Amino acid sequence: MGLRKLKDKKCAAPGCDKTFTPANGFQKTCYSIKCAQEYARHTQKKKQEKMWRKEKSEWEIDNDKRKQKNMTQSVFNRLRVLEEKIWFAERGLEPVCISCGKPNMDWCCGHYKTRGSHPELAFDRKNTFLQCNNHCNKHKSGNIQGYTAGLLERFGQDEGNAILDYLKSPHEALRMSGRDYYEMRLKLLSEEKELRKKLNQLLDISAHP
Ligand SMILES: [Zn+2]
Ligand SMILES: [Zn+2]
Repeated sequence: MGLRKLKDKKCAAPGCDKTFTPANGFQKTCYSIKCAQEYARHTQKKKQEKMWRKEKSEWEIDNDKRKQKNMTQSVFNRLRVLEEKIWFAERGLEPVCISCGKPNMDWCCGHYKTRGSHPELAFDRKNTFLQCNNHCNKHKSGNIQGYTAGLLERFGQDEGNAILDYLKSPHEALRMSGRDYYEMRLKLLSEEKELRKKLNQLLDISAHP
């Protein structure tokens, strides 16, 4: 087997843009010693920074519960929007806002009992449905009157009232640590991936029956 000539490559040292023919497959920089040193310093710094970032996020998982909670809430809210879209798609229906009943809106996850007043229901599926963001969620503070009517209309009197009774009854406080929120988030993220696939399949089927 003869020696294959290696392809030219660009020097990996920051600031040098020379092209060179490497002597072996491991050579990353051109034949300047300064470049080799620069490159070594550069990769060492990157490695160090990566380690610091990892340490910082590990520290935050255990010590910054508020941040963990907020990050997990965002994922949960995205997941609920997906679940809701799937709920409608499985029934061959166009998604509508739980509070105003309109289709084609800027969707968000609307909490019936607010996260501020009822933090114990912040991650509760019965407390979260598809809602339009600007009109109902923001400008009408959740449009709770419409929300109540929407639940009854969508689920019928019996099931709708059962959900409302559940929401109005007392609930135990969530006892979650920062790490609990972090672990919950990892689980939600993998669920989200699956749900996105499922929704795409459903929408694909309805687009090309
Ligand atoms: Zn160089
Ligand atoms: Zn609405």
